[in-house]
Amino acid sequence: MAEAEFDLIQRYFAQHQPCHPATRLGIGDDCALLSVAAGHQLAVTTDTMVENVHFFADVDPADLGHKLLAVNLSDLAAMGAEPFAVTLALTLPAINHPWLQAFSESFMALARQHQVDLIGGDTTAGPLTLTVQAMGWVPEGQALLRSAAQVGDLIYLSGAIGDAGLGLKIRQGLAVTDQEQALQAFNRPQPQLATGLALRGIAHACIDISDGLAADLGHILQKSQVGARIDWERLPLSASVSAYIQSSGDWQMPLIAGDDYQLCFTLPKSRQSSVPAGCVCIGEIEAQPGLRIFKQGISRQLEASGFEHFS
Ligand code: ADP
Ligand code: MG
Repeated sequence: MAEAEFDLIQRYFAQHQPCHPATRLGIGDDCALLSVAAGHQLAVTTDTMVENVHFFADVDPADLGHKLLAVNLSDLAAMGAEPFAVTLALTLPAINHPWLQAFSESFMALARQHQVDLIGGDTTAGPLTLTVQAMGWVPEGQALLRSAAQVGDLIYLSGAIGDAGLGLKIRQGLAVTDQEQALQAFNRPQPQLATGLALRGIAHACIDISDGLAADLGHILQKSQVGARIDWERLPLSASVSAYIQSSGDWQMPLIAGDDYQLCFTLPKSRQSSVPAGCVCIGEIEAQPGLRIFKQGISRQLEASGFEHFS
């Protein structure tokens, strides 16, 4: 490895000692070594962020460091997995120290907050592209699968949706009086790890909302071969999102906008009393395929669904 690359890893990433008992060997050798406790399964996910596709070229590197890790941890949350280690592949156009300092600080701060070790990665030169692979564990057979929804299940959200979508609109130039919360939701999503863990043994299906509620709930419906009804009035919306809808008439935004990273999950009515605090019921799983959205009791069609890369 080149000296500059070695220095960079030492300076920004390798000085944090691994703290998780599963990490037997972290950064520095050809591979990291992990041990997985008996009776557990390893949950593995990866997400890439590309400049001008997933983030604006002028993004605050501190926001980027947070979000890159958050979106990966969110996938583990959606499986009911407990994260313990991540790898980080960085492709950088140049070595920019202030940028790396801000990026690595917020990345490592979120990692520490959730007791996650950075155990390795790769560093290359090229167009700005960031990839994390995240690993967690889940007791054998307890992972929350997209395919597990059953007819009659209630559908829940772990929290408000639409704020990140509003944040994106603000970044694109929309004037909004109270911008702070929406920008925070867009720039600093919080992976719903505690909720994911609390849903083990309670929820049937679960997914995190990265591409919009309609698209992501759609994945549950497809994998579970069921349909659903949701009631628009039950969607948990912040005051700023409600105000935006009021003034623009754009009622579809919270269903279509992505980046909220709330969990959408289903569970049988008998388990309603075990739902974690703050989660909100928005509808029900039905046998008839497709997603039906009721607004003021009338079934509505969506004009667009979630974000797709190759469309
Ligand atoms: P190799 O040539 O064997 O692929 P590298 O020179 O790419 O090894 O990396 C040396 C060590 O530094 C490895 O342990 C690798 O996992 C780690 N590493 C490289 N880049 C990063 C990074 N961006 N973040 C964390 N660890 C990294
Ligand atoms: Mg390498």
